[in-house]
Amino acid sequence: MAAVPCKIDEPRTVAFVGLGAMGWGMAATLASGAADSTSVASPVLVWNRTTSRAEAHAAEFGTACAPTLAAAAAADVIVSCLPTSAQVAAVAAELGPRLGRGGLWIDCTSGEPTATRAIAAKLAAAGVRMVDCPVSGGPAGAASGQLTAMMGGDADGVDAARPIVALFARKKVVFCGGLGAGHAVKAVNNALNAAHLAVAGEGLLALAKLGVAPAAALDAINGSSGMSRQTLERLPREVLPRRFAYGFKLGLMLKDVSIAVDGVGGGEGRLLPAVKRLLEDAVAGEGGDADYTRLLRTQERAAGVELHDDARAGEPYAAPPYVPGPPRKRPKTSGP
Ligand code: NDP
Repeated sequence: MAAVPCKIDEPRTVAFVGLGAMGWGMAATLASGAADSTSVASPVLVWNRTTSRAEAHAAEFGTACAPTLAAAAAADVIVSCLPTSAQVAAVAAELGPRLGRGGLWIDCTSGEPTATRAIAAKLAAAGVRMVDCPVSGGPAGAASGQLTAMMGGDADGVDAARPIVALFARKKVVFCGGLGAGHAVKAVNNALNAAHLAVAGEGLLALAKLGVAPAAALDAINGSSGMSRQTLERLPREVLPRRFAYGFKLGLMLKDVSIAVDGVGGGEGRLLPAVKRLLEDAVAGEGGDADYTRLLRTQERAAGVELHDDARAGEPYAAPPYVPGPPRKRPKTSGP
């Protein structure tokens, strides 16, 4: 069937599908950007499986709640941000045929490239183009619009999507290649994220057992060549204060690393499969809904000690023993 050009010459009605940790903020920044945009019409429609969340979004951000997928089909463009490609396929099967020919589907889920191409083929049969457009930046980046988007697709779809994506991915929009390329890059990005966290965690645990305080070690490393986003932010902000609340689920991280290993070819190496095994252990121990920074709990269990930030300057560091169960705050000692 001949491809139908996407409608790009007038403001398009957009429906955002999936108001989770990421979609909530992305739909809000999209809606605020739409007010000054010639590409996106106001109000932005929002649909969520649990309708009360879409109603709350509409009340807070001036979006319009689509109570059903049929109501979301009034849009020219769908932006989806769902857990995996399986949910995207299910929603697309119901919503895709209801969209008009010339419609556009921008999938911001961190999805699986092969599944994405299969979904796109079915949408194409209904005259709807699809681009993959996973994002990076976490819930805080979603709320502030400071996301990086990784796009894959054909030139017509990417050109049509770009002005819309730019409204919620204000940090950077990168064209990665054909359909599925964005999802492939995102999977590798997250595999690196998990790998950096895991390697830094192992290093800090070894140093803690030697009597080096994790905060002191991070201070040195963050002025040196071993630093990463994990040593600069996740370890000092989430792990050492025992917060473990970045906002990204362990199960979703395992999904991404599995895509990098099994779907993108990273399994041919040595390191990424090891990271995947570590994440499988972490999901088994902590549960898939736990924050991904609780990967460190699995490493702490193996090391027999925990990483805390309460060392006193100049004093030898005594790493507290690993205690099973929910992460605890170390009891404060009295004194100056
Ligand atoms: P959440 O678990 O917070 O939200 C999931 C969303 O999907 C909710 O809106 C949920 O609806 C909806 N949903 C779940 N199952 C279904 C279903 N069967 N049918 C329809 N809707 C469904 O996930 P995130 O927002 O964290 O992640 C979304 C995507 O973004 C994932 O692919 C993730 O890997 C990726 N991502 C996440 C980041 C993060 O830091 N959190 C960062 C970058 C990418 P309901 O409210 O009804 O449960």
